[in-house]
Formats: sequence, C-alpha cells, structure tokens
Amino acid sequence: MTAWEPVIGLEMHVELDTETKMFCGCAVTKGDPPNTHTCPVCLAHPGALPVVNQRAVEYATRIALALHCTVPARNVFHRKNYFYPDLPKAYQISQYDEPLAVDGWFEYRVGDETLRCRIDRVHMEEDAAKLVHAGGEAGRIAGSEYSVVDFNRGGTPLIEIVTEPDIPSPAAAREFLQQLRALVIELGVSACSMEEGQIRWDANISVRPAGSDELGTRTELKNMNSFRFLQQALEAELPRQAEVLEAGGRIEQETLHFDPDTGLTTPLRSKEEAHDYRYFPEPDLVPLEMDPAWVEEVRAALPELPAARIERFVTQYGLSRQDASVLGAQRPLAEFYEQVVAQGVDAKPAANWTMGEYLAHLNAAGLEPGHGFVTPERLAKLVALVAEGSISSSAGREVFARMVEDRAEPGEVVETHGLGQISDEAALEELVARVVADNPAQAEQYRGGKQQVLGFFVGQVMKATEGRANPKLVSELLRKALA
Ligand SMILES: [Zn+2]
Repeated sequence: MTAWEPVIGLEMHVELDTETKMFCGCAVTKGDPPNTHTCPVCLAHPGALPVVNQRAVEYATRIALALHCTVPARNVFHRKNYFYPDLPKAYQISQYDEPLAVDGWFEYRVGDETLRCRIDRVHMEEDAAKLVHAGGEAGRIAGSEYSVVDFNRGGTPLIEIVTEPDIPSPAAAREFLQQLRALVIELGVSACSMEEGQIRWDANISVRPAGSDELGTRTELKNMNSFRFLQQALEAELPRQAEVLEAGGRIEQETLHFDPDTGLTTPLRSKEEAHDYRYFPEPDLVPLEMDPAWVEEVRAALPELPAARIERFVTQYGLSRQDASVLGAQRPLAEFYEQVVAQGVDAKPAANWTMGEYLAHLNAAGLEPGHGFVTPERLAKLVALVAEGSISSSAGREVFARMVEDRAEPGEVVETHGLGQISDEAALEELVARVVADNPAQAEQYRGGKQQVLGFFVGQVMKATEGRANPKLVSELLRKALA
C-alpha cells in the first residue's frame, strides 16, 4: 500500500430519541409487541398526510450546529423512490438537494493528532420498518422460511450525517465514528444504542496514487453497525482495490458485503445512482422555513461539547492533553472527575486515581461512571489520605480494592487493616538507630562517601515496617543518624 493512499468518506445514520415518529403521532418505542405503534400515515394508507415533528427538527439542528454546519433559510423534503417490503409507501421521505444543513466540520483525535473532517451535509429522513426473517438461522434471510414486517420502527426520525472523503485510514474511520457517536450522545438527542441498532454507517472507499488529489472509483460498504468490522472491512478492501489497479483492472462502482469470518469483501449489487431513485419534492409537505432566531436559540442551548471540555480540562486543571482526552471525552466520567476535584483535592492526583484504579474498577465491574459504591466523595477521601501522607500510594491501591470489596469508607479500611503510614518521628528514630547499629559495615561505607548505601538502609526500615514508614521522613532520619 505504499504507492496507493486510501480515500474514505462516511455516512452515519442516527435514530433520534423523540417521543413520536417523524411524520405522525405514533410513539417511538423499543421492544413493544410488533405492529402496536402504527397509524394510517406510517402505514401509507391512501390519503393520509404527513406532518413534520418539530422536536425532530430541533434535535437535527442541534447535531448540525454542533458540527459547525450552516443552516440555510429553508430546506425541502423529497421522495426517494424504491420498493422494499419494509417501506409501505414505496418511497422514503428524505432530503435531497436542499438539506437541513451543509458545510460543517468535526475534529477528532487519532493518537496524538487532531484531524479535521469536513461535513458535507446533515439531513432528516424517516427510518424503514423492520423485516423479521423466521425459520432460518439467527434471523438471517438466507435459509429462512418466511419473513414478517414489524412497522413499529417505520417512520422513526432518522438523521444522516455525510462527510467529505477526508478520512485518511481505516483506523481513523473507526475513531471518527466513535467520537462522532460520543458527540451525538452528549447532545441528548439519541442514546445511539448499538444493541438497539440506533446507529449504522456506510463507508465509501477508493484508492489513488499517493500524493495525487484525484478521486478514484469508489465502492461502498453499507449498513454496518460494528466499529471493529468497519475497520476490518476497510482494511480488507483497500489492498483489494490496489491489487486490481496494479494489475491494470478497473474498480466497479458497487456495494460490497463484508464477511467477518473470512475477512473478505464481496460484491453485493451494483451501486444505485441518485437518478435511480427518481427524487422529487414531497408534495404533501411544504418547505421548512428555518427562523434564524430559533436556530440561534438552539445554538445557545447546546451543552459543552467533548472537544471544548477537553480543552478546558487542559487549561483549568493543568492536565496533559492525553489525560484530558481520557477524562473529558464522555460526560459521565468527566462529571465524576470534576466532582472529585470539587471535594478540594488536587486535580492531578485526582486525575491519576480516576483514570487508574477507578476506571479499571468500572471496567471490571461493568459499571457506568458515577454508579456503585465508589462515589466522588469516597475517592476524594482516598486521594486526600495519600496526599497528606497518611498512607503510601501502594497502600492507597489496597485501600481502594478493600473499599470496593468490603463497601467500607477509606478511613475505616486504613484503621482496620493497619495500612496507615508511620510518620511518628520518635518511633521511626528508634528504628533507624537500630538498623544503623545492626549494619556497621554499611554505615562505614556510607560515611566513607558511598551515598547509594542510603537506599539499603531505607529498604531495611521499610521491611521492618512492612512498607508503612513514610519514606521521605525515613531518608531524612537516616541521613541524620549516619552523619
Ligand atoms: Zn404512525
């Protein structure tokens, strides 16, 4: 792949968490019995008329503004015509040449780099119903005996976010989508549940000679819902295209299927062109006029977004960008961290304990930040005990583990397990004197100028106290005793 560079563009579909559907009053639900949330509009009965869901427009506008898009004064719904059993109207109401929003950008992190991807457009549409394939293997159409349709999902508000082909690698594509998903969750417009299929994405891929700025013929991977499979599929498709081109062949514009078992991409069907869909303006809906004052209201009400919060963590708490990215990327963990700091402990050790012991504990226990026994107050108490020297940091890790296991306050754990650091000068002086007296040869070496022998003595004192002596104080006392 040295001579070829990938060109990747992405489309992300997000189902919005509105109470009702895009063009009718049916409830948007998950898990209810099939076909219990339908009406003449979403079942496409003759004469039924759609009405736009204002909340869906607001949510879509939030996404558009968070992606720095321009929201034109008006947008228009179009009919996208095609037949499929999950689409009773035989067209989807979508947007075409006058979408809700255009020309934005999104910055995302890949390793230590910040990359900017241009956003071509954000538009509104409705989701299709759900086909259920029965009698076959694991709900797949292949080998099934019959299929039935659940129209509950039909008409759910769907947002499509389309990028320019700015994504430089399969790994960057994965990062882009994960961070874009985090942004949408942050906006409070969709939980973006992977299990519920609330988000899905398509990828367009082509390769071109490295350094060139022409665009090659692209293939498309559609309807993916796993970050890992998307990355794998792109990693498989790019060398395939390079090989075809190097052998003097041509890339066909087609939709591909990725099989995670074989790791191969295979053609599914030739790609439709826009004209295949016979787009025309939806005659049952007037164009939407976007009141600029209302758009500004939506903008003003946007929450703090991850990128801004990460910047703030760097300046406000003096964290490295790396640490700020870990703590600031998602609101629940960011809020937990800020609550720890609000207890009056230093920001830096609070960050280390939150990213270290606390995150590991969440992962091990399968908990979300802010849930479980370890509250910000309890973690802050532990951080304070280490900071004031009452316990060593290694004892701190033990206190953390026992706090989780025994559901006990950090102070109690220190008491019951005798983990407190010995900072009692008189007691340590006595011990130091004994260790020096017991090791006359080493004492002689030290006095003869061999400074590193001090480490030996510190080790002896730590051993005698089972690691609980305050190491700084021990060093001081030893220097005095050996002088
Ligand atoms: Zn309905």
